[in-house]
Amino acid sequence: MKVLVINAGSSSLKYQLFEMPEGRVLAKGLCECIAIEGGCITHKRPGKDNYKVEVQLDNHETALSWVLKLLADSEYGVIADISEIEAVGHRIAHGGEKLKRSCLIDDGVIKYLYSIVKINPLHGPPAIAGMEGCRKLMKDVPMVGVFDTSFHSTMPDHAYVYPIPYELYEQKSIRRYGFHGTSHRYVANRVAELMGKKIEDLKIITCHLGNGSSITAINGGKVVDTSMGFTPQEGILMGTRSGTVDPTIIPYLVGEGMTIDEVEKMLNKQSGLLGVSGVSSDSRAVCDAAAEGNPRAQLALRIQYYGIKKYIGAYTAAMNGLDALVFTAGIGENDALLRQEVCRDMDYLGIVLDGELNRTLPRGTEAELSAKDAKVRTWLVPTDEEFMIAQDTAKLASL
Ligand code: ADP
Repeated sequence: MKVLVINAGSSSLKYQLFEMPEGRVLAKGLCECIAIEGGCITHKRPGKDNYKVEVQLDNHETALSWVLKLLADSEYGVIADISEIEAVGHRIAHGGEKLKRSCLIDDGVIKYLYSIVKINPLHGPPAIAGMEGCRKLMKDVPMVGVFDTSFHSTMPDHAYVYPIPYELYEQKSIRRYGFHGTSHRYVANRVAELMGKKIEDLKIITCHLGNGSSITAINGGKVVDTSMGFTPQEGILMGTRSGTVDPTIIPYLVGEGMTIDEVEKMLNKQSGLLGVSGVSSDSRAVCDAAAEGNPRAQLALRIQYYGIKKYIGAYTAAMNGLDALVFTAGIGENDALLRQEVCRDMDYLGIVLDGELNRTLPRGTEAELSAKDAKVRTWLVPTDEEFMIAQDTAKLASL
């Protein structure tokens, strides 16, 4: 069964065509600069040269029509006709309070997603545009929505209700939702498999550390807490986002003459690794600057390590124990120094790395990193959200 996975961002659209159930990737690619100057598509097929085409992409539907054309192209394609695509899976950042698991997309789902755009203003509109584009271009092909928030929907109310007036939760749906759920779900299930145990029998902390970062506590397969909240702004320091700060900083700065939009931009786009280091939002550049002795780059990294450490401690307490600690995503998979520093002096909790293995492991390899006899087993598991989406899509579309 061929399943197309679509991940639509505000000016980009990523795609992957899978052969399911085995999960073989037939082709994948990225459409960039949708609705702005400089549109281009990079189309990749395993074992073949990449193909790059520069083309004006007026909207997500135009981008999708190009994707379908490329997939079935006689020279660059991997299928004879788009009718071979039996289902489409959409990555959707926010499922709100109602969409708690992956589901077939119908009019009702799209209507609900429109109704929650207010709480998901950046990612909601492009995701809906991707779904509507597919509906037009691939009329009767079943579509499945896979939501970043849904894995977190098992959190108990004491983890998701903020200690502000309860009416704000009831009337305005202000609560912790959590994000990156598909990634946390994938790596948690994968680590259980690698350990040869049932996820129901494990206490796991998953650290998804990329440009955006979140940490999740999973007890018996169910999320009990996660660091991102009402938006992906909460939690640890990220590439350009501050993570959690004292909220009173906001009215204070407004009182000092900044507009609310400027404060929002500052917290979202000018903070985190970039804001503290003054170097870059890219952790590689910050690590290089720190290695050369830049004190602000060193400070930015220390804040990051310390933040992650505190969540691991808190979530171990929340679960009364920990069996597995997992690192994933761009930084988690590639940055050995970060893993070493986060796990330094954590032997009290039973976390001890094999330093040599952690340092020398080929980048992005699936592997256990803990020292022999460590009580907690620490793992590196490269994430694969697209495969998870393809799996859910194949399952729901076959019902
Ligand atoms: P996104 O949240 O955009 O999906 P990614 O998961 O791709 O982000 O992670 C991007 C981050 O991973 C960047 O900060 C980048 O510097 C970092 N990263 C990627 N490769 C390496 C590496 N080899 N060493 C350290 N950091 C890396």
